[in-house]
Amino acid sequence: MPRDSFNREIDYLRISVIDRCNLRCVYCMPLEGLRFLPNAELLTAAEIESVARAAVRVGFRKFRLTGGEPTLRADLLEIVERVARVDGVEGLALTTNALMLDELAAPLRRAGLTRINVHLDSLDTAIVERQMRWGNFDRIWRGIMAAEASGLTPIKLNAVVAAGYNEESVVDLARLTLEREWHVRFIELMPLGGGECATLSVKRYVSNIETRRRIENALGAMRELPSENLADEAKNFQLAGARGVIGFISPVSEPYCGTCNRMRLTADGKFHLCLLNDDELDVRRALRSGGGDKIEEVAQILRRAVALKPTGHHLLEGRSTRDRSMYQIGG
Ligand code: SAM
Ligand code: SF4
Repeated sequence: MPRDSFNREIDYLRISVIDRCNLRCVYCMPLEGLRFLPNAELLTAAEIESVARAAVRVGFRKFRLTGGEPTLRADLLEIVERVARVDGVEGLALTTNALMLDELAAPLRRAGLTRINVHLDSLDTAIVERQMRWGNFDRIWRGIMAAEASGLTPIKLNAVVAAGYNEESVVDLARLTLEREWHVRFIELMPLGGGECATLSVKRYVSNIETRRRIENALGAMRELPSENLADEAKNFQLAGARGVIGFISPVSEPYCGTCNRMRLTADGKFHLCLLNDDELDVRRALRSGGGDKIEEVAQILRRAVALKPTGHHLLEGRSTRDRSMYQIGG
C-alpha cells in the first residue's frame, strides 16, 4: 500500500467526473459568475478507467465518484461499469445530491456501484430550497428510497451545517437513525476558493461540538462507537436504542489530517493532493500524449502525488485553496 512522506497509507481515490451541478448550495456554488469546463477538457470514461487501473497498480483499493453533480454525466453508467470491473477495485461509491437517483439507483447498482452518500441538509422543504438552492426535498427523498431499495446500503446522508440556515434541522436528521440503519453525518463548513461561498463558509460556520450538544439536548446522550477504520473521517456515535449511526466530520474543530488516506482526481485530470491546498499534478497531459505504457506513466505520477501530499490544512491560520472551489474538487 502506498505511503506518503508522513507514513500515512494512501489507498482511497476520489474521482470527480464533472464540475457542473443542478443545485447551487449556498456554501458551494454562487448563482453568478460560474465558468465550467468545456466537455473536451473532462477526462473521458476510458481515461478515468486508465487512472483507476494505474491507481490499483500503485496500491489503491477504494474509489468514489463525485463532482459537481456526478449524475449529470451522460456516461456515468459507463464510468461505473469501467471502474467497478477493474481488478483490485474493492469498493466503488458515489456522492450525489440524489435529484436523479430515482431513475438511476437501480442501473447504477447493476453497473457495479456498491454504496452511495446522499447530500441532504434538512428534512424541511423550505430550508432545503433556501440552502440547497433549486433543491427539492421530495425528489431527493425519492432518490434515497430508490437507492435503499436497490441495495446501495448502508445509506449515508451528509448534511453541511450552516448558521442561520439549518442548524435546527440537525435534530430531525439525527432522529432518522432511531428507526433506520442509516449513517447521518454532519459536516463542518470549510472555506474554499476565496469567493462568496468561502466568505459564507467562514461567517456561517457551526462547530460540531455545538451540533452534537444540540442533538443530545433534544434526543439524549450518545455513545461513541469504536472506529472500524482509522482513516474514517467521521467520528461515529449512536443514540440509545438507535439502529443507525450519527457521524461528525469536523475538519475545523477536530482536524483529521494525520490519518488522511485520500488522493483526489479533478474532472479535468489533475491529482489534487489535499482538499484544502492548491497543489496538483497533471495526469491528462500524460494520458493524451502519444505512445508508451499510459497506465505506468499515470502510476508514476500518482506515486509522486502521494509522496508530495501536504501534511495538513492551514484553515486555522486563515489559508485555504485559492484556485479551486469545492465543486471543482469534489469534497
Ligand atoms: N454534488 C454532490 C453532493 O453534493 O454530494 C457531490 C459533490 S459535493 C462538492 C461533495 C460534498 O461537499 C457534499 O457532501 C457537500 O455537502 C460538501 N460541501 C460542499 N461545499 C462545502 C463547504 N463549503 N464546506 C463543507 N462541505 C461542503
Ligand atoms: Fe452541487 Fe454538491 Fe455543490 Fe450542492 S454541494 S452545489 S449539490 S456540487
